[in-house]
Amino acid sequence: MVEQFRLEVRSWLEANCPPSMRTPVIEDEVVMGGKAERFKNPEAKIWFDRMVAKGWTAPQWPKIYGGAGLTPAEARVLREEMSRLNCRRPLFSFGYWMLGPVLLQYGTEEQKLEHLPKIARGEVRWCQGYSEPEAGSDLASLRTRAVLQGDQFIINGSKIWTSIAQESDWIFCLVRTDPDAIKQKGISFVLIDMSDPGVKVEPILLISGASPFCEVFFKDVRTPAKNLVGPLNGGWQIAKALLTHERLNIDEMGDRGEEQSLEDRLRQAVGTVDGKLADRGLRDRLAAYHMDNQAFRMTMECDTALQKAGHAPGAASSVFKWYGSELGKRKFELLMEGLGNDSLVWDGHGAPEDNQATRDWLRSKGFSIEGGTSEIQLNIIAKQVLGL
Ligand SMILES: Cc1cc2nc3c(=O)[nH]c(=O)nc-3n(C[C@H](O)[C@H](O)[C@H](O)COP(=O)(O)OP(=O)(O)OC[C@H]3O[C@@H](n4cnc5c(N)ncnc54)[C@H](O)[C@@H]3O)c2cc1C
Repeated sequence: MVEQFRLEVRSWLEANCPPSMRTPVIEDEVVMGGKAERFKNPEAKIWFDRMVAKGWTAPQWPKIYGGAGLTPAEARVLREEMSRLNCRRPLFSFGYWMLGPVLLQYGTEEQKLEHLPKIARGEVRWCQGYSEPEAGSDLASLRTRAVLQGDQFIINGSKIWTSIAQESDWIFCLVRTDPDAIKQKGISFVLIDMSDPGVKVEPILLISGASPFCEVFFKDVRTPAKNLVGPLNGGWQIAKALLTHERLNIDEMGDRGEEQSLEDRLRQAVGTVDGKLADRGLRDRLAAYHMDNQAFRMTMECDTALQKAGHAPGAASSVFKWYGSELGKRKFELLMEGLGNDSLVWDGHGAPEDNQATRDWLRSKGFSIEGGTSEIQLNIIAKQVLGL
């Protein structure tokens, strides 16, 4: 049965995945959907439309919510066949990776029918409004206030480090609905339309020269009470469930594939002797990195199979988040080491052509901060996984 499905998937992908969609995706061509989507590569649009029509942007979601209703085994076949052809992911979406799973679990039928198909079809781009200036690691201290008045929440406060907020249509937000309760008990999870009056977005410029995230301000924003997900003051449980999905998917979210392998880039940078990387120390560290990376990928695959078979990941997701982000940083450290002086400049006169590497290295510093810092993951692992 599954093997028959594999043959169908294989021939469909071969017939329908355009040539440029079989190469690693470049930053400019990442498809995130929503009103801001421009489809810089016309073949990305063709590919996206075809995958949406199959429901394969959300393969396991039920068909009524825009998915394809695939079984776990079928979804695995689709993943395998896509990677066999090097197919690009048709849609990179926080809505799919983070919000979708919690809506499926905690949303009302009305919320699922309203939001999930638009996520699967890439019509709406979502961002995540969790962190605040005084509430990052200590997220439960958040202060953005939502007061229920009749059938609306009135929202005041601000969020920070909100990735892609300037291009997003909606934001899923943690807000304080009971200031008198102990902190985790007074939080609710609400969905806010970014075009509502009173929502203001200000991009934050980073050292790498990019502005991938923003501050978001709410001033007397009116949000319908029906946009509350789960019970009033019951948002903390949903927040944690969403973070589990974020931590498990963070690797996938950042995975754009690579034009050139790390090894090739290092060969180019330091040269070779007898076909081997010329710098012996670097060669040893590269080999160690490859072995650790391979072991990590295999453990992740094993865990994905367990999840698809119904095993909740729980606190163990912190192990993956911690190890994956530290490993990601190691990769860019190796690249910088290989590039030597060339890694010191990334702009202007004298900058090497491949200056993207330095920007990527700077960006990699955020891996162990976003989605909860490495120190916080180690605390969770110590307490909740190892029981220390
Ligand atoms: C690239 C990137 C994208 C992001 N995108 C989003 C987004 O889309 N939406 C969103 O809501 N947030 C986002 N964030 C914010 C991110 O979730 C927070 O930065 C993170 O949770 C840390 O919070 P903080 O910055 O307030 O640091 P703090 O909590 O102030 O931490 C500062 C330092 O103290 C350490 N520390 C704090 N508490 C402890 C403790 N108990 N034990 C040991 N060490 C501790 C931390 O590990 C860290 O090193 C993003 C961050 C980055 C870097």
